[in-house]
Amino acid sequence: MIGRMAAAAAAFLALGGMQAPPQPQAPGELALWRLDCGEFVIKQYGAFFSDTFQYPPGPKRIVDSCYLIRNGDRYMLWDAGLPGELAGQTVDMPAQTMTLNERIVDQLAPIGVRPEQIEFLGISHYHLDHIGQAADFPNATLVIGKGDVEVLRTQTGDFIQPDRLRPWLDGERRMVEAQSDIDLFHDGRVVMLSMPGHTPNHFALLVRLASGPVLLSGDLYHFTEQVENRGVPPFNHNRADTLASMDRFDRIARNLGARTIIQHEPADVAKLPAFPEAAR
Ligand SMILES: [Zn+2]
Repeated sequence: MIGRMAAAAAAFLALGGMQAPPQPQAPGELALWRLDCGEFVIKQYGAFFSDTFQYPPGPKRIVDSCYLIRNGDRYMLWDAGLPGELAGQTVDMPAQTMTLNERIVDQLAPIGVRPEQIEFLGISHYHLDHIGQAADFPNATLVIGKGDVEVLRTQTGDFIQPDRLRPWLDGERRMVEAQSDIDLFHDGRVVMLSMPGHTPNHFALLVRLASGPVLLSGDLYHFTEQVENRGVPPFNHNRADTLASMDRFDRIARNLGARTIIQHEPADVAKLPAFPEAAR
């Protein structure tokens, strides 16, 4: 009898030492913060933003937005703004002025997020105002369009500055060269959507918050009027691809009932809670 009990106890102990079978994990909370990553005054916005003489002459102010996403305890940054060394300055260029109020890392500090915690750095496209502070995030896997990487490997200019992404381009940090949609956390909730045209492999971002889906435009649109009148900037890589991507973006927004946010549109800043509050 005692022997049998001892055997049962041993079996119980053995079971106790076994690993519990894997349980389906409840998805962590998703949160989205809008960050101030700069602003511009475009001196002649008609010529700058339409190849069909759509807009009147004169200046236009636009903002430069980046976004922080927390998925459970994992962090992602969407776009990396104007270069950090501009902080506190306005730079006058031939076609525009550029201003940066505060670096991204200094905005993250008060909400307790350290640069090393950023796991993914998703980039809508290679232009300077979207990659300027990328190098501040040393552990991030860079996710960027393959065609955009090819531009960075072969060209330079005011808005083409490959050195901003040098550690990734040189293979020192992990880079994913995307050619189609990418489900970043493999849970369907944060998806980079292929929207080529502005650049060869431009992307938008879908964030499926508990409160409803949000679509971040990248530079598919720069301001609200473009949604209605299909203003295509003359500097876009491919006009037909741009129009097809606008069609895809609008259809996804309609089908999902998504909140659409044009990253450069000043009026769209108010579509998300003011930092440091997050949408959830
Ligand atoms: Zn831009």
